[in-house]
Amino acid sequence: MIIYLDGKFVPEEEAKVSVFDHGLLYGDGVFEGIRAYNGRVFRLTEHLVRLYNSAKAILLEIPMSLEEMEEAVLETLRRNKLKDAYIRLVVTRGKGDLGLDPKKCCKPTVFIITDAISLYPEEMYKNGLKIVTVPTRRNAPEAVNPNIKSLNYLNNILAKIEAANAGAQEAIMLNNEGYVAECTGDNIFIIKDGKIYTPSTALGGLPGITRSAVIELARKMGYTVEETFFTRYDIYTADEAFLTGTAAEAIPVVELDGRAIGNGKPGPITQELIAAYRELVNSEGTPIGE
Ligand code: PMP
Repeated sequence: MIIYLDGKFVPEEEAKVSVFDHGLLYGDGVFEGIRAYNGRVFRLTEHLVRLYNSAKAILLEIPMSLEEMEEAVLETLRRNKLKDAYIRLVVTRGKGDLGLDPKKCCKPTVFIITDAISLYPEEMYKNGLKIVTVPTRRNAPEAVNPNIKSLNYLNNILAKIEAANAGAQEAIMLNNEGYVAECTGDNIFIIKDGKIYTPSTALGGLPGITRSAVIELARKMGYTVEETFFTRYDIYTADEAFLTGTAAEAIPVVELDGRAIGNGKPGPITQELIAAYRELVNSEGTPIGE
């Protein structure tokens, strides 16, 4: 496997970063998870814009232009001869000393890993996920804004552990006011009386690229989609629910906190949207090239 690391393409064994890198010492950095389907990278520019915005929000200057980053992603895929892939793009504050001060870090570290995708088992798409609400609240926007896709994922990891401890596959994370923000690595949608709802990102979720693609798709298909306030009650009493994310794509949810959602089976609009999303990802994207 060939890794892009600070301007060079190196074998995996040589792709090493310093133990003084603040990405490792403090989670000081930003990242993206992107996918390529069938020789094309889905919504690459949108992912890169989010990466550069995340970096800006933490005053991290990425030492290359967005266009150069785009080319680095495509070239990494080409060197690995990948047409379908999961792409992990990471920018850290770089090597510093043991203090927090980012000014001591002279040069951000940039690396890109492209790997074969590991999909969720198909039966999860067929049967749907059973999820729970967890005690750990989503980061407050006044602290570390969840709009920033930072390397500091402990908030989500704790929630993921709590979900696993409860025997569930995913977690609903609430914000400090008790509104539904999102899941640990996915956004959530519900369907009620034929209308589609998703928590406004102002409630403290990541503005997912899959989320926006699904909103666009659903509107094109004639559905009303509202980004709005959202409580657990709305999910308990919904007809259907599903999650969206780059890795998961769109996946049905059939139970929350022991309450069956709708009839406890993946709903028809969810299935329609999953199919439409799969078609979309296979029909657009930035060509990887030869
Ligand atoms: N929320 C969180 C916390 C995430 O980490 C992610 C990405 N894995 C998402 C939502 C979904 O975002 P996207 O559709 O851009 O992958």
